[in-house]
Amino acid sequence: MNSDPIVIIGAGLAGYTLAREFRALDRETPVVLVTADAGDFYAKPMLSTALARQQAAADLVSADAAVMAARHTIAVRTHTRVEAIDPAGRAVRTDQGPLRYSRLVLALGAEPIHPPLQGDAATAVLSVNSLDDYARFRARLTEAVRQVALIGPGLIGCEFANDLVQTGRRVNLIGPDPHPLSTLLPPLAGGDLQAALARAGVAWHLGTVVQCVDGYAGGYRLTLADGTVLTADLVLSAVGLRPATGLARAAQLQVNRGIVTDRELRSSDPRIYALGDCAEVAGLVLPYVMPIQHAARALAKTLAGTPTPVAYPAMPVVIKTTLHPVAAAPPPRGAAGSWEEEAVEGGVRARFVAPDGALLGFALTGSAAGERQALTKALPPLLE
Ligand code: FAD
Repeated sequence: MNSDPIVIIGAGLAGYTLAREFRALDRETPVVLVTADAGDFYAKPMLSTALARQQAAADLVSADAAVMAARHTIAVRTHTRVEAIDPAGRAVRTDQGPLRYSRLVLALGAEPIHPPLQGDAATAVLSVNSLDDYARFRARLTEAVRQVALIGPGLIGCEFANDLVQTGRRVNLIGPDPHPLSTLLPPLAGGDLQAALARAGVAWHLGTVVQCVDGYAGGYRLTLADGTVLTADLVLSAVGLRPATGLARAAQLQVNRGIVTDRELRSSDPRIYALGDCAEVAGLVLPYVMPIQHAARALAKTLAGTPTPVAYPAMPVVIKTTLHPVAAAPPPRGAAGSWEEEAVEGGVRARFVAPDGALLGFALTGSAAGERQALTKALPPLLE
């Protein structure tokens, strides 16, 4: 048996959950977790609800790297960036030297997409996808910052808008979509969230994009494609995330939208696996917590000697717009059927129904969000 360790790259939810699940099954095999960051364990979803709770980055950390290493009897190499994978030599090259592996797990996460912006302050636009990003954002968000421009009305943009208005700031939310969360919600439900956040102080600029960000009077001036000019003390971009595929691509692994794996989380190289935001598992890119937990449990069993395909139940996404809660389970891509939307007192109930009457998806806003569990039971599994 190869005495080289299992190497996991990434200290996010995917990397650490896998380490924990694997250790529950195998106390012996050495595991080395390598990460470019400090290796602090935190719940990433809290990044977009922490302002209203007045939490700094350090408040979100539940255990540091040394605690995680001791807890799971693994080695954690922090501030170590993997620069290349050598599948033939079963080694990775890091900025701290080479490391051999028996099996390699890519838990690399996703990278923020940067919108194409012109203007002399385009590089001052922030995005938040890590604890370090959040610390930078918090440092810039002084009392003097009263107006924030937010680019991207998707899940993360809406959650940050919801969080920022609760700190008394004015938010301009800008994006080309017809309504917020347009990939998750049909029009009536999206419009309901839009109206609720507008009542809380969010000004919407939909159907247009930001073209230019320039420095102006100690802050910024944004020029939109429809000619609107806005000012802001801070600009935050949340236009989306893209699976981190660069390392895999350079190592000639199969990459599509994410790092392609089969249901056992195995990439096109039989000794390399991938999970979490970087992975495309059986054709699905699901950058959410619940799929990571299911994938980590299955992969732990496979690495411990029992090949186990991952199964996904129906997994609705809960959007943490606490001022007007939303839950959404979009229908499978390309599914036949149509949305049936219904306004209820204080919210919207939307159901995606197949021609044979089967429920394939839903979207619930406001008072209807409480029906999530009941409707989830009626949905088919995502991957049986
Ligand atoms: P990450 O947490 O991004 O971890 C990637 C790790 O890889 C990092 O440690 C990084 O340092 C390391 N790394 C990358 N490249 C290298 C390299 N070359 N060398 C060494 N290390 C490297 N999901 C939900 O289900 N519900 C929610 O409410 C929700 N809210 C969210 C709110 C926000 C603001 C964000 C950003 C995401 C949210 N998500 C939510 C998504 C969820 O948080 C992610 O799906 C999940 O945290 C991703 O975990 P991960 O381990 O795959 O990636």
